[in-house]
Amino acid sequence: MTPYDGSLSELVIDLDAVARNWLALKSRLQAGADCAAVVKADAYGLGATRVSRKLYNQGCRHFFVAHATEAAEITPTLVDAATMATADRARIYLLNGPWVMAAQDMVAAGFIPVLNSLEDLRYWAGMVPGAAAILHIDTGMNRLGLSLDDLAAPDLADLLAKIDLRYVMSHLACADAPAHPLNALQRDRLNTAARLLKRPVRLSLANSAGILLGGDYHYDMVRPGCALYGINPAEGPNPMQGVVELKARIVQLRQIAAGETVGYGASYTVPPAQNNAIKTYATLSLGYADGFLRSLSGRGAVVIGGVVCPLVGRVSMDSVVADVSHLPQLPVTGDWVEVIGPHQLVDTVAEMAGTIGYEILTSLGRRYRRIYKGTDL
Ligand SMILES: *Cc1c(COP(=O)(O)O)cnc(C)c1O
Repeated sequence: MTPYDGSLSELVIDLDAVARNWLALKSRLQAGADCAAVVKADAYGLGATRVSRKLYNQGCRHFFVAHATEAAEITPTLVDAATMATADRARIYLLNGPWVMAAQDMVAAGFIPVLNSLEDLRYWAGMVPGAAAILHIDTGMNRLGLSLDDLAAPDLADLLAKIDLRYVMSHLACADAPAHPLNALQRDRLNTAARLLKRPVRLSLANSAGILLGGDYHYDMVRPGCALYGINPAEGPNPMQGVVELKARIVQLRQIAAGETVGYGASYTVPPAQNNAIKTYATLSLGYADGFLRSLSGRGAVVIGGVVCPLVGRVSMDSVVADVSHLPQLPVTGDWVEVIGPHQLVDTVAEMAGTIGYEILTSLGRRYRRIYKGTDL
């Protein structure tokens, strides 16, 4: 056997598909709405630097992260010190607020915090008067943001006069369920908030799924995340293109006699095979240390040559076993199996794991050989 080229698993990330997804979302927007990109958590695990550069080159100028470290990571690729003052500069917003670093340092770095409470607003207005910020209004998520009652604070007008208010945003709780009454209620509350602020403001409400709710959710800027990365933001068939292909190698093929068990806890017992043939299993180089969640034990599947092969037994740290007995042609050691890809979408894996595509992507481990497909342009 020839040794492998150093990799037992491979994660292929299609930057062109990310770009096509961003452009497809942008093309649905009501006139005048900007399309931002949410690249928090390392662009949902896919690499914030590469994704941000790609989208910048496609025309994206608004980038949302959660932490200051994430903002610092994408800054070199987005913000050329020489063009810092020009209109074409990318804006980087910090969803988790202004407290992560000294206010002056944040301003110097060019990061724009999302102010999530009256306390945040007072702090920002007091520490760095005139500095840019987004004001987050809570319209029903009850997680972050000023309440509508907060907008009656007697010092509100003074505070707003002391900041460079770029946007007023809110975040939808149920956008993936278009019929949910909270969607319209949140939209109406945002409109109310805008009236209470008694000044012209630019608004932002929609995440990926929110964009699909229609033009009255688009306002001045939308903030898609998951849809850029191929996760289905809709209830029906996925309108987005797949971005991620995850493959793992077969490290061993075994014939296992009926009555034997497989894996930790002996949770799977090999059944008698049809016409007395002995059953064949493939041990794959993929485990929970790679973000292949242990909850996929006995529930997940992989795809070999276009055929679905169920996983058996528990997912181990570095390996998992698939039943390949039914394949028309048995694979050989070293063959690649598809874990995520055209035959098995991220959302399918998520469903089997009892979670959402977001968690599958953000859990992806660091042991894969990462290959970026497509250009940065
Ligand atoms: C994560 C996040 C988004 C992006 O949501 P998706 O569902 O991934 O499109 C948008 N806005 C806020 C405030 C977020 O936290």
